[in-house]
Amino acid sequence: MKVGVIGTGLAGLTTAIALSRRGFEVTLIGHGVRKSNSYLAQAGIAFPLSDGDSLRAHVTDTIRAGKYINDEEAVWGVISKASEAYDFLSSFGLRFEMETEGGHSFPRVYTIKNETGKHIMKVLWLRTKELGVGLVRGTAKGLGILGRRAYGVFVDGEFLRFDAVVIASGGFTGLFQYTAGVGTNLGLMIGDAILHGLPARDLEFVQFHPTGYVGESGVKLISEAVRGAGAKLITEDGERFVNELSTRDIVARAIYGQMQKGKRVYLDARSIEDFKKKFPQIYAFLQKDGIDPSKDPIPVSPIAHYTIGGIAVDLWYRTGVKGLYAVGEAMSNGFHGANRLASNSLLECIVSGLEVARTIARERPKNRSRKEPPYRPFEPGEVETIRELLWEHAGIVRTAEGLREGLRKLREIETDERLKLLARGVLECALAREESRGAHYREDFPVMRKAFERPSFFDGRCRL
Ligand SMILES: Cc1cc2nc3c(=O)[nH]c(=O)nc-3n(C[C@H](O)[C@H](O)[C@H](O)COP(=O)(O)OP(=O)(O)OC[C@H]3O[C@@H](n4cnc5c(N)ncnc54)[C@H](O)[C@@H]3O)c2cc1C
Repeated sequence: MKVGVIGTGLAGLTTAIALSRRGFEVTLIGHGVRKSNSYLAQAGIAFPLSDGDSLRAHVTDTIRAGKYINDEEAVWGVISKASEAYDFLSSFGLRFEMETEGGHSFPRVYTIKNETGKHIMKVLWLRTKELGVGLVRGTAKGLGILGRRAYGVFVDGEFLRFDAVVIASGGFTGLFQYTAGVGTNLGLMIGDAILHGLPARDLEFVQFHPTGYVGESGVKLISEAVRGAGAKLITEDGERFVNELSTRDIVARAIYGQMQKGKRVYLDARSIEDFKKKFPQIYAFLQKDGIDPSKDPIPVSPIAHYTIGGIAVDLWYRTGVKGLYAVGEAMSNGFHGANRLASNSLLECIVSGLEVARTIARERPKNRSRKEPPYRPFEPGEVETIRELLWEHAGIVRTAEGLREGLRKLREIETDERLKLLARGVLECALAREESRGAHYREDFPVMRKAFERPSFFDGRCRL
């Protein structure tokens, strides 16, 4: 049986390894491991394995962070498989240290020198090669779907036929102007799935990381761990204005508020001893830009970090189309709710990859058709304009007026219909959610409202 896996991030590689171990013929489609958000992940992975910790405590923390609209079964489903995910990584000889992160009631963030993604991805990539997993370098530009059945993938115009297709192409932070994530994560496959009539879930919940760094070396991330180690947020006047260990949404809005007043914001890490040793990746890009964190406060601003929404899937990572599955940040089954708890996404990538392999092994979808589904070529056009638009109108602080203006501008942009559809989903669901919850903040509705304690679905119209 042939399976095509779109995306070479952690979710894609885990899926490929798990399927390959079961004897499937697997082909990865993508841009290589370095061009993935997984490779960039710094702090680590949440495993509820330390003394005194429990599955229940991790579940409770996840639902508290998700502001009570998580799918409880999905939360238990992922967290109860955390030790399987830990064993999966340990089986490759990976060894971790433990760290504390905001939102977790126990120390449960497992890190490898704050370059966790890089170390994991290198090892998994090697393993896919040892297992003989195929690789097609390129961009999947369309899903081959006819009726309610997936037949393959169009990669740069060429149709590749598979018995099953797994979408592991990450989220859509690349559709926002400022992000430390890779530019390839535009959410094209999410838009394509919606175009094929598959609903997307919770698109309005976009997590902004408070301490992005926009410098000569590009847009980068300064992880929570730096604040955890004692760094303080200050304005250009040297004033502190927020508790640095509050949740990401609170800190991001506080920084944004200062910036709206015309102030520059800095992360003062001068009190941290051995910054270079503790945060080698961060030290390297700062040094490249002439910033010495032991002497200079670091200029920071919020950036788009994680898209909670994605293709709606069930607890077995199945979409509504036969033979089509989705894993990792590309999908949503309600695990994160309205706000992702730090370090829960890498965990979800591994769990969903292992689980979808079991689902495919159980279902064994067979593609006997020789039909070639229709193909709509990808025409990126004005992607940059969409990125600016979403940043301005669906950013950290939203209003009905701003979202409506965003929708009006979107109609005039000439770009690929799938990207436009996805952007419209974000704007329309953010407009429909007349409350503030987790990562979604409406200035005109600043509190959580019971009437909105449920997920949203977008299939061309927002249903909330
Ligand atoms: C800077 C940074 C730090 C982070 N740190 C952490 C952390 O410490 N802990 C944590 O839990 N989470 C962290 N996250 C979030 C986490 O990294 C991601 O949620 C996770 O890695 C997503 O994995 P994925 O496999 O779903 O997607 P990705 O790793 O993003 O991989 C998706 C892949 O698909 C490819 N792709 C996209 N579209 C197409 C297409 N059409 N055709 C072919 N290929 C395509 C992309 O190029 C990419 O290679 C961080 C994110 C960022 C940006």
